[in-house]
Amino acid sequence: MSTFKAPKGTYDLLPPDSATYLAVREAIAAPLRGSGYGYIETPGFESVELFARGVGESTDIVTKEMYAFETKGGDRLALRPEGTASVLRAALEANLHKAGNLPVKLWYSGSYYRYERPQKGRYRHFSQVGAEAIGAEDPALDAELIILADQAYRSLGLRNFRILLNSLGDKECRPVYREALQTFLRGLDLDEDTLRRAEINPLRVLDDKREAVQKQLGDAPLLRDYLCDACKAYHEEVRELVTAAGVVFEDDPKLVRGLDYYTRTTFEFVHDGLGSQSAVGGGGRYDGLSEMIGGPALPSVGWALGVDRTVLALEAEGVELELPATTSVFAVPLGDEARRVLFAKVTEMRKNGVAADFAYGGKGLKAAMKAANRSGARYALILGERDIEQGVVQLKDLESGEQTAVGMNEIVAELESRLG
Ligand code: AMP
Repeated sequence: MSTFKAPKGTYDLLPPDSATYLAVREAIAAPLRGSGYGYIETPGFESVELFARGVGESTDIVTKEMYAFETKGGDRLALRPEGTASVLRAALEANLHKAGNLPVKLWYSGSYYRYERPQKGRYRHFSQVGAEAIGAEDPALDAELIILADQAYRSLGLRNFRILLNSLGDKECRPVYREALQTFLRGLDLDEDTLRRAEINPLRVLDDKREAVQKQLGDAPLLRDYLCDACKAYHEEVRELVTAAGVVFEDDPKLVRGLDYYTRTTFEFVHDGLGSQSAVGGGGRYDGLSEMIGGPALPSVGWALGVDRTVLALEAEGVELELPATTSVFAVPLGDEARRVLFAKVTEMRKNGVAADFAYGGKGLKAAMKAANRSGARYALILGERDIEQGVVQLKDLESGEQTAVGMNEIVAELESRLG
């Protein structure tokens, strides 16, 4: 152990568990790759102002959870707490929306940072895979994203997740609802903080997890009763398209989500085996965000799925991913000459696409075979002095224990054929 530990609220991804994380990222990205989404990578930090304006001045993310700092040069930056604002910023900066091919469809994968109170499923550093479709108002696009997330979770073998769906209205109907909700909230017995929140961002109060607050919200006006005709029709179309795809969802009229930029379609994926941190992913439409950060009107929709919580969901369901063995062949040289010869063979195998590892450090046969078994390789290649003289190498099937001598010049082809 060293003097140092991973910072509070963070953890390291180590083999073998880290392979599951990679596989989860891969599984979430695969349906996106197959649906016209291009990969985008943005910096781990951005101007504080981007998040303040993009995510919302009154959100917990911005007021409490952001890792904001001033650089030696005097710039005010923040570690990114989420992906959407950065991706939209990058797309606008590169004028991707002017290339004449809307929507611009992008996917990303990376680390995000929030100064939250750590608990199981809630960390200060976490990992998301996300997708954004920028510059088109089309219910089929909202439906596409919901369907692709469903496909991703199912491809991992997850079953016990639910999709919650709601519409938050648009700039026509939401303000009317906001007023009605505010009037309702003012009449409740709420603490000062919550009352203040009701004035700045009343919809967020609906999201309050405390029972004492939830109890009073039973008769709260619902946005669904205030949607304008255009929003109603849009939402109905999204619902029909998702249903037609065989994807089951629940209407959740109280779903608001913690970011300010959402309009119309909002959705969350929750997993029932995760306790209080049950949201494994979420997203929605953000038609106003581009203008909020100084861009043109670009109606857009996106989601982000949490990798950490998806892994926890797999554990909760007892799903074991079928991970391909990392090493197929483990080479065991006995002596210096064998080391040179066998090392060259390993290099040749690797060039031919056979995943191979080597017993380094001059281990004896017993320790080297132990390492071979631990590596998960199907085959061990053992080379001793007599083998060199005879121009062969011992090929041992570590599953059956069977061992045969194979000509040095044939071994690579032999392994390729055995490994398929
Ligand atoms: P949000 O941007 O808050 O909607 O988050 C999208 C997804 O990211 C959530 O559904 C979680 O799976 C994941 N996530 C958000 N915050 C955290 C966190 N502090 N720790 C782990 N995962 C998180």
